[in-house]
Amino acid sequence: MILLDRVTKTYSRDTGAALDRISLHVEPKEFVIIIGSSGAGKSTLLKLLTREEKPTSGKIIVGGIDYSKLKDKDIPLLRRKIGTVFQDFKLLPGKNVYENVAFALEIVGMSNKEIDHTVPRVLEIVGLKGKEKRMPMELSGGERQRVAIARAVVRQPKILIADEPTGNLDPKHAWDVIKVLEKINRFGTTVILTTHNQEIVNKLKRRVITIEAGKIVSDRANAEYHS
Ligand code: ADP
Repeated sequence: MILLDRVTKTYSRDTGAALDRISLHVEPKEFVIIIGSSGAGKSTLLKLLTREEKPTSGKIIVGGIDYSKLKDKDIPLLRRKIGTVFQDFKLLPGKNVYENVAFALEIVGMSNKEIDHTVPRVLEIVGLKGKEKRMPMELSGGERQRVAIARAVVRQPKILIADEPTGNLDPKHAWDVIKVLEKINRFGTTVILTTHNQEIVNKLKRRVITIEAGKIVSDRANAEYHS
């Protein structure tokens, strides 16, 4: 499902490679945690998957799509296969919970009837039923992140990329967010999570890939993390 073959990314000739001949295989429905210190190359890896960045060399295939053959016009289709959430939520501040999620469907031309059918189901999954009319400012950080997750999965992507989704949250809210990611994974979505939170890594007991200085230095199943 996700295949990287000797992928290198160099941003400029003066700096070293942000990613250096990375090879990686992620099966459909896997839950993968990526760890590594700041500057290790985690975000670069995620940006290559979402096609925000192109590799300098190497092959990337996601869901049968060979990125070297991808045209600009195919990128919206690719983005539908990959949902993303970030540390800073990126919600639309002037829209309520329902509207934030519905907006992701409006922009792809879904009818109001279908939207009204789909959004409540997703809000239920992320545990925000009853909070449809709240504005982002009226929510806790954990709730905001769950709105962002609802928005990211409402079009049923095959892959959900969560880049430090708990970075701004206290431990209780962080764990609520992680539980939602686990639920979404159980429903069949591949989840790729980056985190600095050792406790989350140890509790999750999932595959952990460690990146340091642009290289994969370990890749372990059911791993615990000792810094
Ligand atoms: P991480 O997400 O693990 O903190 P990054 O992927 O952001 O690591 O960064 C990896 C390396 O690439 C770092 O040395 C960083 O300075 C460099 N880098 C990241 N983005 C850019 C960019 N847009 N232009 C130049 N260098 C970059």
